[in-house]
Amino acid sequence: MNSNGNANHVKVLVLGSGPAGLSAALYAARAELAPVVLTGIQLGGQAALTYTIENYPGFPEGVGGAQLGELFQKQAEHFGAKVEFDTASEVDLSQRPFKVKADGGEYLADSLIISTGADPNKLKVPGEEELTGRGVSYCATCDGWFFKEKKVVIIGGGDSALEEGLFITRYASSVTVIHRRAEFRAGPILQVRAKEHPRMNFIFNTVVTEVLGTEKVEAVRLKNLKTGDETIFETDGVFIFIGHTPNTQMFKGQLEMDNLGYIKIDDKMQTSTAGVFAAGEAADSHFRQVVTSAGMGAAAAIEATHFLEASAG
Ligand code: NAP
Repeated sequence: MNSNGNANHVKVLVLGSGPAGLSAALYAARAELAPVVLTGIQLGGQAALTYTIENYPGFPEGVGGAQLGELFQKQAEHFGAKVEFDTASEVDLSQRPFKVKADGGEYLADSLIISTGADPNKLKVPGEEELTGRGVSYCATCDGWFFKEKKVVIIGGGDSALEEGLFITRYASSVTVIHRRAEFRAGPILQVRAKEHPRMNFIFNTVVTEVLGTEKVEAVRLKNLKTGDETIFETDGVFIFIGHTPNTQMFKGQLEMDNLGYIKIDDKMQTSTAGVFAAGEAADSHFRQVVTSAGMGAAAAIEATHFLEASAG
């Protein structure tokens, strides 16, 4: 809402402040479109929760996730982007300008860039939240390196669990996959590669009921679902890969999505509604990297610029 109590009318509204959203804002700002970013709950997105990011180009020594988010924000603001600490709660994409209701007011947007991200699913067991970043992780690429010559467990039985588990064997001395059923959901090729790997072990029909440790992860409590037996399994790390949920519920029924809720886009980041673009993990269930999300955000802003030029006649 502006000072007259009317909805703010903007050319480009960006939802989400992860690498995709802030890169989109940077590009839209440099195109002189004065974009507004609604940060969402987590400024900097999932990346900001990562202790060190060592695979974003330009930082040979690595960079803190929160620090990288601040740098993205500063750069976008330097060129005229406005970053509002606000969260969108409702959208109406039936006509332009698109209507967006946020906690702090209403917006009318000539174009919209959705970069609301995705959240890794949580196990929801005691110890998980307290030890996140201290042995509990949801990202092998980010954190695998910290487990050099250490023991880790992987939870899950899908492609992510086995693929990420195989990745962590580069570092860890042993990788034990704990899966709640007797068969993996993962594809056959990954299953063969995992089962043939000398440092990978498997525990089936078993769930983790607690993550144990004071300063850092020391063990997990396991429950065998067939026998009901409980055991303690010592480990240095707990990697949880039980699926992601994209933050796209708000757009259901208004934009085309796949069966997991990821927004469908074409190769120009265009969603099923002209003028609405999506970038980053809200539209990408595959790469999920800071650098790929940033690239998608930049592409979305370039296309939004073309769209606004064309629609202005
Ligand atoms: P997913 O296929 O949904 O697998 C999730 C796994 O977590 C399942 O094995 C599931 O067990 C288990 N799980 C779910 N909730 C659980 C809980 N509360 N406690 C314990 N276990 C739980 O997720 P994903 O592996 O992240 O894959 C997502 C999509 O991306 C899939 O379509 C996948 O094919 C694709 N992907 C592909 C590749 C690749 O092609 N290389 C790599 C990664 C991902 P159940 O099996 O018992 O349901």
